[in-house]
Amino acid sequence: MLTQSIAEVANADVKSLVEMLNFAQKVQRSLDLITQAYEEYGDRLVVANSLGKDSSVVWHLAKRVSPKIRGFIVTTRFKPVETKQFMAEEVARHPELRVFSNEEEIPDKLYATDPDRCCDILKVTPTREAVREMNVACWVTGLRCTEGRTRTDFKEVEERDKGLVKLNPILTWYEREVWQYLALNSVPVNPLYSKGYRSLGCWPCTKIAQGADERAGRWIGTSKCGGECGIHTKPLLDHQP
Ligand code: SF4
Repeated sequence: MLTQSIAEVANADVKSLVEMLNFAQKVQRSLDLITQAYEEYGDRLVVANSLGKDSSVVWHLAKRVSPKIRGFIVTTRFKPVETKQFMAEEVARHPELRVFSNEEEIPDKLYATDPDRCCDILKVTPTREAVREMNVACWVTGLRCTEGRTRTDFKEVEERDKGLVKLNPILTWYEREVWQYLALNSVPVNPLYSKGYRSLGCWPCTKIAQGADERAGRWIGTSKCGGECGIHTKPLLDHQP
């Protein structure tokens, strides 16, 4: 069950907060949200770290709340070499980050013929496994409502899966505020950003793109263009007892 105060946050008008709050207020709000949720869920609060810039902010904020907060990374055989290297460095710095992947055989170039199925097998399945294995009651993500067309409809606190709360503590942040936080706090980031990428994923499905939609470089040339891998849209508790 959500606490009263967190439940109130779930009803907050996200679009107004994006405009109304300044950078410092957003940082404080994010810290308060994580603190409040950590008080509620303790060790069952776990950060999902995608190794992108937004996750790097959320992971840093969570560590400020408590160094004990755990996290998980879902990786695939198709992650770029730079992301794999950054993952190794992050796990070495933070052994409380666990890595999940699905190594089952899949058809050749499934990412081109059926990217939804590819993401389901390689991303959603190991995310479900992480949630189950780590006994997660509240997972914390780096979702932001200004990232692109598929991300405008989320709340800071959600319970789309009954029994699994999702906290999106930087939902109201602009892209520039993410970079402001990372720079001000000297947070290590995935080196792919220095090459011009703005949103990171598996190498066959990620291109450098310009324009208002930060996620426009994802799944270019498919019906999934600028879309979602499924971890934020599909149930994660399906396979739990
Ligand atoms: S992002 Fe592409 S390669 Fe990665 S799991 Fe999804 S479809 Fe497959």
